[in-house]
Amino acid sequence: MEFDTIIHDGTVVTANEIFETDIVIREGRIVALAERLSGGATRIDAGGRLVMHGGIEAHAHIAQESAAGIMGADDYYTGSVSAAFGGNSTFIPFAAQHRGQSIDDVIATYDARAAQSVLDYSYHLIVTDPTPEALNHQLPRAFKRGITSFKGFMTYDLMNIGDDGMLNIMTVAKKYGVMTMVHAENKGMVKWMNARLAEAGLTAPKYHAQSRPELAEEEAINRAISLSKLIDAPLFIVHASTEGGAAIVQREKVAGARIYAETCPQYLAFTRADLDKPGMEGAKFICSPPVRDQRTQAVLWGHVRMGTFESVSSDHAPYRYDETGKFMNGVDIPYPKVAKGMPGIAARLPHLFSEGVLKGRITAQQFVALKATNAARTFGVTRKGSITPGFDADIAIWNPEQRRRITLADQHDNMDYTPFEGMELTGVPEIVINHGNIIVETGKLKAREGQGQFVTRAPVDMDARKGHLAKELDPSQNFRAGIRP
Ligand SMILES: [Zn+2]
Repeated sequence: MEFDTIIHDGTVVTANEIFETDIVIREGRIVALAERLSGGATRIDAGGRLVMHGGIEAHAHIAQESAAGIMGADDYYTGSVSAAFGGNSTFIPFAAQHRGQSIDDVIATYDARAAQSVLDYSYHLIVTDPTPEALNHQLPRAFKRGITSFKGFMTYDLMNIGDDGMLNIMTVAKKYGVMTMVHAENKGMVKWMNARLAEAGLTAPKYHAQSRPELAEEEAINRAISLSKLIDAPLFIVHASTEGGAAIVQREKVAGARIYAETCPQYLAFTRADLDKPGMEGAKFICSPPVRDQRTQAVLWGHVRMGTFESVSSDHAPYRYDETGKFMNGVDIPYPKVAKGMPGIAARLPHLFSEGVLKGRITAQQFVALKATNAARTFGVTRKGSITPGFDADIAIWNPEQRRRITLADQHDNMDYTPFEGMELTGVPEIVINHGNIIVETGKLKAREGQGQFVTRAPVDMDARKGHLAKELDPSQNFRAGIRP
């Protein structure tokens, strides 16, 4: 038997097990796990290293215009390179529809942008204009392309689609076996708080935290879950940041609702004190929902540990600390005019490993589940997410002992700051492999622009309970009758 690559002598960590084995790769796939094999054109010595599935980043904004027209600083080349240096082998950024745009055009636009990617990729489709044409024809076509997640917003004037819009999207999603994702914050509360703070002249970056209260997230998560329960459609809550929101997710999971969720490194690493840095420095930490406090961090870590969250995702939103990004609307501007979002696609996994695994908050197996395996399962990435014969050879080999201080340079993105600057973390992804090809090796990029491939995703599992709707209205009845696009 001819092998392309053997990863030799490593400690393999999957979402379930830790064991010693060699990994055999041929034609981009894992073909065998076995002890002490010889041969292989390429032999990687992984002695003393942890060999894990590469990260699957399920929340990133790459080459995406905001509704206000600001283009993020990372395109699919710099974004994927940064992700690769952070130990990822696949990512699923967003393809965002803006009002008036056809979803077919949106996908064509992102296909052109993503052709630069060094990583395998798919998109979650952001839907801001759920017209009958979009719901009945364009979304089913997106599904046919293998794009099996749609995202709706409950906040932002130019993005939110209202409760009925969410229900319409979830109904289509349920019919085809698509996961609906939601940005859950109460739009009215945020708008009202912004007006009150503005009246009082409280516009420094630190007031961003007050403007988006915990209750705004808690209320919207509760409402979004209620909408999903009305039609018994699965729902994924992105970037949960509050104790109250996480508690609702946990309670509904226990009760059997098909609810999935993630949190992000910023809610585990930063607090509102960071928003209060001198001058406009706090603008670097403006993201929505906002960073909270230390007590919330401890509670969120507890939820990470107990399985409330499927994933810890970066929500990489690269707005530079200059007039192309954060200060697109001016330099000394009130917080609502600052572009919202922070970078973190390269820091996500080093932070989760160092602060999570090495500080005893999660196991190494949980780390693998949170960084890759659960995202693969939740978003229909069927041939990735596990070190298993037949699966893509997407692997990250980590030195679990190397200590380093985070710098902007080692993020390898197109940003002019990292919020993680100066943080001391232990554990470095030394070698990252996508489809059997080494893409990063000890600090050097080995990938060629455009070598990543589009991943056709499968429907999410819809073989659950019937919905609460009358039979005639229940989209799952059509689904079961075999009416598929
Ligand atoms: Zn986001």
